[in-house]
Amino acid sequence: MKTIDFTKLARPNIRSLKPYEAREIPCKVKLDANESPYSLPADKIFQAKNIINRLNRYPDPEAKKLKKTISKNLKVNTDSILLGNGSDELIYYLITAFGGPVLYPVPTFSMYGIISQACGEKGIEIPLDKGFDLDTDKMLAAVRKYNPKLIFLSSPNNPTGNCFSADRMLKIIEASKGIVVVDEAYQPFSSEKGFLPLLNDYKNLAILRTLSKIGFAALRVGFLIGDPGLIKEVNKVRLPFNLNALSQNIALEAFRRKKLMDSQIKNITSERERLFEELDKITGTSPYPSEANFILFKAKNANAVYQRLIKEGVLIRNLGSAIKDALRVTIGTPEENNFFIKALRKSAGGKK
Ligand SMILES: *Cc1c(COP(=O)(O)O)cnc(C)c1O
Repeated sequence: MKTIDFTKLARPNIRSLKPYEAREIPCKVKLDANESPYSLPADKIFQAKNIINRLNRYPDPEAKKLKKTISKNLKVNTDSILLGNGSDELIYYLITAFGGPVLYPVPTFSMYGIISQACGEKGIEIPLDKGFDLDTDKMLAAVRKYNPKLIFLSSPNNPTGNCFSADRMLKIIEASKGIVVVDEAYQPFSSEKGFLPLLNDYKNLAILRTLSKIGFAALRVGFLIGDPGLIKEVNKVRLPFNLNALSQNIALEAFRRKKLMDSQIKNITSERERLFEELDKITGTSPYPSEANFILFKAKNANAVYQRLIKEGVLIRNLGSAIKDALRVTIGTPEENNFFIKALRKSAGGKK
């Protein structure tokens, strides 16, 4: 049989592309992926019999019911909303529809760079300042120099956990001739109100939201909110049935249980404050303030601490390649957080 070098066959930008790594390391306490530790009880949400009986049919291509629910919830018109199989897919669609250059500060969510490269578009990375805020001068200089079609600002930012200053973001939105996408995956955990109220003021502003961090990572439901003209263009590259019937159905149920979800979010943010205090007390670790459902912290000998935690049964995220000596822990249930703190005290050296 002929041998084929498929890597050679792939487009040049794909040859050097590294896929997003979602490593599944078995562990007792999983605090690595910014998921919610809470899920809805199956008996309550799984009224899906009528969906299961219709699995031979394609799902609603427009997910009309879900769109209407989101429209009511966020107080935006349905023609300002586009649904995606996770917000990841919407990032793909945005870059497919508008192209590059694509500008984003770093460190940030890695998919902006990975998808830009997959689409053969130039990604421009501008380092954040020392406080993990936007470096306005450098960002504005890059806007002038490259005239990016798309700018991605994750606020709160993953993996640093802070919101960028609103006035710095506005300066960039105002200076940009392209689209500025504010990725609000972690907005529900933030004390700031986010950029939705500004949509009417800035035509080139679009917002990404997701159900993934508030209890439904497995559903893959994200939404893009923006000017109807922008939504119309992105919708042209959307695959016809991108949101499956089960996800549409269960996402609707999630919105019906908004009160429960809000109380879960409250638990997570109060646990975040407690975990911050605990991390601050441990010798050799120092946490950064967070507006998200995770905390970034520095640790002496971070690689060794990370490995020791795995041995103790706790998986967190090692961010050493992006920020020196940095680890990121997702907020879990109070029990999981206690387990983590205990294991960390053992691994990192005890109380201050
Ligand atoms: C997790 C995350 C996403 C991905 O969300 P999905 O809806 O699960 O695809 C998008 N943006 C940021 C900043 C994230 O951290």
